[in-house]
Amino acid sequence: MIEQRIPEKRGIAFRIDDGDTFEVIDPRGRQVADLVAFNADAPTERFSSKYSYRRNSKVRITTGDTLYTTEGREILTIIEDDCGVHDLLYAPCNHWVLDDYYDQPDENGCRENLSEALAPLNVGEELVHSTLNIFMKSTIAEQTYIDIREPVSEPGDTVKFCAEQDAFVAISSCAGESVVNAGETKPIDVCVPDGTEVHANF
Ligand SMILES: [Zn+2]
Repeated sequence: MIEQRIPEKRGIAFRIDDGDTFEVIDPRGRQVADLVAFNADAPTERFSSKYSYRRNSKVRITTGDTLYTTEGREILTIIEDDCGVHDLLYAPCNHWVLDDYYDQPDENGCRENLSEALAPLNVGEELVHSTLNIFMKSTIAEQTYIDIREPVSEPGDTVKFCAEQDAFVAISSCAGESVVNAGETKPIDVCVPDGTEVHANF
């Protein structure tokens, strides 16, 4: 495996073959990593958080659970998970989310960082919308209101995924200087199979 560090507020993208695995690691703890995945042969088919919670019948997924596409097909399965608390409810942060909610004008959010990393794979920003927010803790109050809490991930916590089809995957270290990352943005580490070409926006 190759270990690639994503510096704070940046992103990477890579191709993963059906049956191969990769890991996402929170080296310092309490840092969110946004993940998107695409059918490598037809990237308009892509990970869907809505169909993932429809197929899993729950809004929080962990070991043994599968991520599904916009066509309802399997794309990734979580095969190991040290943390167990990840978010499927929120869309990725982006420039206007950072401006409107986090007082961070004129900055790349996860959507821009994922899109820039995916550009060499010819996946356009219009397809980057639905993310699994690894290590992000969201809550639902009164069966209605969603809210963001500090992550519970400890330093070194790892989530391991297995590809269920040939896929493009992109991962960002979330840029929000807020409770979402416990007030401080930090790096994320990713381990990919030997020989994988990693595209980065840094
Ligand atoms: Zn983010």
